[in-house]
Amino acid sequence: MTADAPDLASDVDTANQPLLVVDGLVKHFAVRGGLLLRNRGVVHAVDNVSLQIHPGETLGLVGESGCGKSTLGRAVLWLDPPNAGTVALHGQDLRTCSRTEIRALRKQMQIVFQDPYESLNSRHTIGQILTEPFIIHQLGAATERARWVGELLERVGLPSAARDKYPHEFSGGQRQRVGIARAIALNPKLIVCDEAVSALDVSVQAQILNLLLGLQRERGLAMLFIAHDLAVVKHVSDRIAVMYLGKIVETASSRTINATPRHPYTKALLSAIPVPDPTRARQRILLTGDVPSPIAPPPGCRFHTRCPHAVDRCRTEEPRLEIIDGGASVACHRWRELA
Ligand code: SF4
Repeated sequence: MTADAPDLASDVDTANQPLLVVDGLVKHFAVRGGLLLRNRGVVHAVDNVSLQIHPGETLGLVGESGCGKSTLGRAVLWLDPPNAGTVALHGQDLRTCSRTEIRALRKQMQIVFQDPYESLNSRHTIGQILTEPFIIHQLGAATERARWVGELLERVGLPSAARDKYPHEFSGGQRQRVGIARAIALNPKLIVCDEAVSALDVSVQAQILNLLLGLQRERGLAMLFIAHDLAVVKHVSDRIAVMYLGKIVETASSRTINATPRHPYTKALLSAIPVPDPTRARQRILLTGDVPSPIAPPPGCRFHTRCPHAVDRCRTEEPRLEIIDGGASVACHRWRELA
C-alpha cells in the first residue's frame, strides 16, 4: 500500500529462502446426510500436496472446477486448517502458532476472491472496507488511515471519491480493484488469488491482471494464482502446478509447461487453448467422461478413467510425483514413452 505504512515482515531475511513451504498437505471433509446426519463418506479435497513459493514468484495452480484448488488456497492461508501436513511462512510452521500468532501472520498473506461482490460488505462504504484492516491490526491514527485509503485507491486506479460509495455502485472490474486494494493494504508478502479474474469480461481480465503484475513487480509480492483457465495462468505465472482430483500431477516453469507438457492431463488442458497463429494448428485432445467424485477417487492413477493412454498398471498403482529435469515434476507411469 502506502509509502510509509508499516513493513510488517522487514525483520525477516528471505533471500534465497522459500517464502512459503507446503508439505504433505491433506484436507478432507466429512459428508453427512440422512435424518441423523450420519457420516456418508469423506471428500478427499486435497491429498498429500507439497509446493514452495519464493519471494516475488508467481505459482499458478490450475485444474478443473472441483479439483481442490480453492480448498488448497484456503488451507495454505489457514482459513480452513488442513487435516495433516505442514504450512510454513518464513520458516514458521503455522501448526505450532497460537491464534494471536496466526493473526499476526495473516498480515503477510492475503486473499483476493473470485466474486468481489460477495466478499465486500455491501453495507459498508469502500472507505470503511479499506480502513478495516488497519483497525483490526491497530495501525495508524484516523488521519493516517484516511491517507492510506486514498493512496490505495489511487494505486488500484480508482478515484478518491470512491471511498464514499458502496460496492453495488461499481462494476465487477472496479469491485475487484477494491478487493485488490484491501488485499495489499497491510503490505503482505503473499497473495492468494482465488479465481480472481474468472468472473470478469476478457478485456477487464487483462486490466486486472496487469494491475496485479504491476503490484507484484513494485512490492516483490509472491502470488499463488489459482484458476481453471490455463491460458490465463501461463500468462501470469513463473511456475505452474497442475492439479487433478486433489493431487498435483505436474509442475514446471510456465515456459516448459507450454512447450513440453509431460502429463496427459496437462496436454489436454493445453490443447484447449486457441493458438493465435493460423499456420500452427494444435490438435485438441478431448477428455471423455466427468471428473470422478472426490468422495471415491479411483484407485491407481486418479486420471486413469479419462486418460487416453491408461494401461493396466495405471488402474492399480498410483504414480508418484517424480522430480525430473530442471526442477519439474510429473506423476505419470508413462510420461517418458509419451514424450
Ligand atoms: Fe494416464 Fe497412466 Fe499416466 Fe495416469 S499414469 S496419466 S492413466 S498414462
